[in-house]
Amino acid sequence: MKSLGIGLIGTGFMGKCHALAYRSARAVFGDVPEARLEVLCDVPGDKASAFADQFGFARATDDWMDLVADPKVDIVCITTPNKVHKEMALAALEAGKHVHLEKPMALTMEDARILLAAADKTGARTIVGYNYLHNPAIGHARKLIEDGAIGRIVHFRGMVDEDYQADPELAWTWRATKADAGLGTLGDLGCHLISLATALVGPVESLMAETRTVHETRPMGEGSDERRPVENEDIASALLTFENGVHGVISTSRSAWGRKSYIAFEVHGTEGMITFDQERMNELRLYQNRGPVSEQGFKTLLTGPAHPPYGQFVPAAGHQLGFNDLKIIEAHTFLKAIAEGREAVPSFKEALHFEAVIHAIAEAGETGRRVTLK
Ligand code: NAD
Repeated sequence: MKSLGIGLIGTGFMGKCHALAYRSARAVFGDVPEARLEVLCDVPGDKASAFADQFGFARATDDWMDLVADPKVDIVCITTPNKVHKEMALAALEAGKHVHLEKPMALTMEDARILLAAADKTGARTIVGYNYLHNPAIGHARKLIEDGAIGRIVHFRGMVDEDYQADPELAWTWRATKADAGLGTLGDLGCHLISLATALVGPVESLMAETRTVHETRPMGEGSDERRPVENEDIASALLTFENGVHGVISTSRSAWGRKSYIAFEVHGTEGMITFDQERMNELRLYQNRGPVSEQGFKTLLTGPAHPPYGQFVPAAGHQLGFNDLKIIEAHTFLKAIAEGREAVPSFKEALHFEAVIHAIAEAGETGRRVTLK
């Protein structure tokens, strides 16, 4: 397989990130087919043309169905708002394309299950944009846990916070509606934390939760007296029981002043602890109850070539990867899986569990009952 054609729908925050990732994946790793940037779609059409030129795509369109039908497109990247993920992903799968879908997969679990069933039927490869999983620091945390560096895992604590909805006077947008956005902070942020918790501890079995909408209405534009309700949650907190019996506590807020990309966790073991914070994404902190008590303490592990695939980017430790590099690793993961004829991780199958957990948290928050995942 010499090359794979990319079709990208959406050119916002994630669209640019995907474009950069597919441009760079072969240059960084060298062991995957070249990604040909074939078609870019956005609305209106002049926006699509301008970004196709900037990102280096051969053609532009304002009709995503044309992109999906294009015979030169092998992989469809969907980086549009959550509401349209389902119809775009279904059409791409039906056209026999591999699908790189941004998270969350869909607005509801029912729709996410429909997407998984469609992918299973076509045999196309899928990957969902849980980019934080690809951080070399997270890979190393996983290795430390598997190697028994902190003993038996007993507890997981995690937080994921940003402040993009902290200002009470911020204008109302589609993000505040269940019909257009689905869940609130759980769908935007909480699902990322669940992807990490699952990778490090395992699948979640059951949970209890509380959710809150902090700013119950928002003005229709700056300074407007007209206000509309916010239908989804700004904050969610949950007590988790993992399938292996480990206990967990997590919380997420999109109204936490000062937090920019705070995805932080602690994994507590019987012989030590690992901590991480995405705002310092090149560091892992490790405590081990070994050696003289007088010298025990947390140490900071700075990522470097000893933490693959960091060395593909820079040959020297401590020189720092960034957020966009995680998407390059994700694109590489997908290209390699397609070239080798196997599933990528996380495919729709793994992502379905992450999303089942956030929907279960929302349900537990609404009903006040413990929810067991099926
Ligand atoms: P955005 O608003 O910045 O960009 C969305 C783009 O889609 C815009 O360019 C818009 O014009 C385009 N678009 C909308 N409808 C379209 C249509 N019918 N046809 C063609 N183009 C259309 O949004 P974003 O922040 O990039 O979010 C997009 C997705 O990425 C969301 O699902 C979001 O949850 C996800 N996301 C993931 C991460 C991550 O870390 N993985 C971070 C941010 C957003």
